[in-house]
Amino acid sequence: MKLPWLMSGVLGTLSVLLISLSAEAARLQSWQFNQAQNQLIFSTDEPVQPRVQLLTDPVRLVIDLPNTSLERRRIREDGDGAIDEIEIRREDDDTARIVIELENEYTIDPTQVIVQGTSQTGWSVQLPPPRRLSRAERRANRDRETRIPIEVIPYVDAAVIQTVEVATNGRGVTIRADRPLTDYTSGWDQATSTYQIRIPQARLARDFTNPTLDNRSPLLSLRAQQAESDVVIGLQPAPGVQIGEISRVSQSLALSLAGRPQRRFVPGGTTRTRILPPLDQLPNVANQRVLIVIDPGHGGRDPGAIGIGGLRETDIVLEVSLRVAELLQQNGAEIILTRADEREVGLEPRVALANRANADIFVSIHANAISMSRPDVNGVETYFYSSAAGRELSAYLLDSLLEATGMNNRGVKEARFFVLRRTNMPASLVELGFVTGAEDAPRLADSNFRELLAKAVARGILQYIVDTF
Ligand SMILES: [Zn+2]
Repeated sequence: MKLPWLMSGVLGTLSVLLISLSAEAARLQSWQFNQAQNQLIFSTDEPVQPRVQLLTDPVRLVIDLPNTSLERRRIREDGDGAIDEIEIRREDDDTARIVIELENEYTIDPTQVIVQGTSQTGWSVQLPPPRRLSRAERRANRDRETRIPIEVIPYVDAAVIQTVEVATNGRGVTIRADRPLTDYTSGWDQATSTYQIRIPQARLARDFTNPTLDNRSPLLSLRAQQAESDVVIGLQPAPGVQIGEISRVSQSLALSLAGRPQRRFVPGGTTRTRILPPLDQLPNVANQRVLIVIDPGHGGRDPGAIGIGGLRETDIVLEVSLRVAELLQQNGAEIILTRADEREVGLEPRVALANRANADIFVSIHANAISMSRPDVNGVETYFYSSAAGRELSAYLLDSLLEATGMNNRGVKEARFFVLRRTNMPASLVELGFVTGAEDAPRLADSNFRELLAKAVARGILQYIVDTF
């Protein structure tokens, strides 16, 4: 007798629930063959390791479940179309066998059979569409039994990432999964200039699509990708937007974003070449109406680092900062200095000053130090924290300093400095060189060199404004 599920084609499925009394082995709990999809699914009450092979004469797919019991010795259901029958039986004392037998003149391509664990105890067997054998093939196959083993893809317990979205208010990014995501890492990736959240043992949902971003989005890019067994979500904040904290809310991760997106960079963002004018032709930014906070590090009772020959950080950075401020003012910017003389100012009031003034840019100026026993360490580096705009500003400053001085390049770096973390605008911290460095110290002591440093810092800031605002 033909069963209605096989004839109804599209919707037809058949479920048989089998309950065994045996407690020793796994039990086959349910199976279902969906004719529309050519797919068998089955489940057991305990994990099993199926063995699957394609046998010929007649062509049949044989699924053995070792150490699995059946309540009934044998179940047979007639098939329709190219499927002749589906049989479930005890193969021996402790093996259950599912056989999908094809009609005489049909076969399937064994390389296209996909046997895959869908849970600890669930499996799906996807068959390709059966193909009619040619007369010659039928003749050749007659009375010749072949066995072709089929690969079984075990179930991997991976979190499924379902969606990645920017909140409609632009204040965050939400990553939704099918379970709580307890294990993740995040941080800036230097190579791609993106902020990355890496979720191990995860995969993207089958229908996953990356969101599209419009030009008001707080992000320049947002992409989730499979990286072997991990899912990596990379994003680049728009200028003016800062990366905040990640929090876990049931089955989601929420990354908060702060700040408002400013005008966009040209495509390519931080990776494009910065074209710097000569030091004696600093660009004028009067039209941009910008307010810049220059923050000379340390001061007063805190001299900062002390290096070769008693060279003091505070002296260098105050002189350079005052000159930077002067140069910026001459070229159309409004300036606030967090200190203009030798006095002590805490970190908190420096930040508060910049935030209250609603400044457009914050640049903190320092000189570097390491142990006196390491005069070999020399060079300039700039720092940002978490925002693409801060990183970009830092890159301008570093490029300008390197071009002007030929100092050793120690790169643009990310660090959780208070003045970078707490300021609301693009912010950078410049380390002008090492007061403990054999190469740097004599140059930092020289007022002509300090003038060169001041011009280079001013140029970096001004060119950043010209290109970005
Ligand atoms: Zn310092």
